[in-house]
Amino acid sequence: MRVFAGGISTETNTFSPMPTGLADFDIARAADLDESGQMGGFGGPFNIFRQRCQERGWDYRFSLYASAQPAGTTVRGVYESLRDELLEALQAALPVDIVLLPLHGAMVTEGYDDCETDIATRAREIAGPGAKIGIELDLHCDLTQELIDAVDAVVIFKEYPHTDINERAEELFAIIAAAAEGATSPTMALYDCRMIGLFLTPFEPMRGFVDDMIAREADPVVLSLSLAHCFPWADVPSCGAQMLAITDDDPALAAELAQEFGQRFVAMRHALDPPSLSLDEALDKALAADTGPVVVADQADNAGGGAPGDSTFVLRALLERGVTDAALGMIWDPVAVTVVMSAGEGATIDLRLGGKMGPMSGDPLDLRATVAGIAADMKQQWTQSNGPVAVDCGDAVCLHCQGIDIIVNSIRRQVFSPTVFSNFGIDPTSKRLLVVKSTQHFYAGFAPIASEIIYMAGPGAVAPRFREIPYQRADLRKYPWLDDPFAN
Ligand SMILES: [Zn+2]
Repeated sequence: MRVFAGGISTETNTFSPMPTGLADFDIARAADLDESGQMGGFGGPFNIFRQRCQERGWDYRFSLYASAQPAGTTVRGVYESLRDELLEALQAALPVDIVLLPLHGAMVTEGYDDCETDIATRAREIAGPGAKIGIELDLHCDLTQELIDAVDAVVIFKEYPHTDINERAEELFAIIAAAAEGATSPTMALYDCRMIGLFLTPFEPMRGFVDDMIAREADPVVLSLSLAHCFPWADVPSCGAQMLAITDDDPALAAELAQEFGQRFVAMRHALDPPSLSLDEALDKALAADTGPVVVADQADNAGGGAPGDSTFVLRALLERGVTDAALGMIWDPVAVTVVMSAGEGATIDLRLGGKMGPMSGDPLDLRATVAGIAADMKQQWTQSNGPVAVDCGDAVCLHCQGIDIIVNSIRRQVFSPTVFSNFGIDPTSKRLLVVKSTQHFYAGFAPIASEIIYMAGPGAVAPRFREIPYQRADLRKYPWLDDPFAN
């Protein structure tokens, strides 16, 4: 068997003030890898595909993997050049038996509302009808029937926070390998749930829903069940949650399962509204707690959802309230990092911090701060079910200002784990309050140490207040705009 693998991965926040350009993509090409072929960072699925191929003696052909931190609409020429490079590599690898494409989903380019469908349909044209094509997606994706029709299997992360990226890659490989060997014949069905939202899987009723999907997959005829949650900040016509079922050669069962789980998800909708508080409500609640550390998630400034990561609303409020014994991470401000690194550890400096990218970032803060730590080329650990992944944060510094430790860094990145603080010798468990810029991925790392977790929808580019998002193109005949999206 010859197996081709590659991907282009980003999530597009069409409301973000920053375009996604070529320099925003980390690109790994086959020639960049050492002899082992091992990929770091977010390349875990490719490591799994390569290992499984090696075990079977299959011919594995990796092309390229380009991934960008979520931001605004991708520049058209950048997308087209990466896509064409990927597809030319596929052409050059022909004939292929299997095509595996870990994409993200919800990538929007000028002229392409749905880059994944574009890639999948072109890959099918090149690979031919006999090849088995499998796609892995982040659950923050939108599905189209056209995408489903173009490929043999789509497997989507089940967990938010996304702790199951590699498990889903294993499943995708197993499904596609069995199909290529002629042992199975995957058939897919979609159910449109007519909902837009953000759905947190550690909590009921989502926890039970995910567990029941997994339990149902124990039936050998049920190859995979996935809920595409949608990405609410991509204002495209396909925005919305969809239930996907894959069975072995049983289209009627696939349709039945997609509808059964889809309808169950719709029935849960009122219990799934985000638990987020306003900025003042969140801080009032956090400061009333008897024990720490209370973790407050600044969801609206999550770089992982396309926000700048340099908003100052929460820090300003903490300073105005005179809060001490707190730590906050991370403010993206490469200029401030340069100034601070030049001043050096122990220096006390006047600094203009954050608030630079636009109105959603608030105003910059003028602070007098002490440089409490410097970490060149800092990494943080991101919890995954099969072990932590090291994520680059660029150069980072810790500023101490009026009893608050402030982590500032040079690469836009959300906070995944307490290592963002402990890298500077800060014991996060000793703090009264930890503020993290992240919507939900912080959860796996911080839940074990938090006395309480508070979700905060302050001002910012990815506040989970869907009815306030100024959509122009999404179809809003859905929940929460309609209480019952299926009523006539
Ligand atoms: Zn996601």
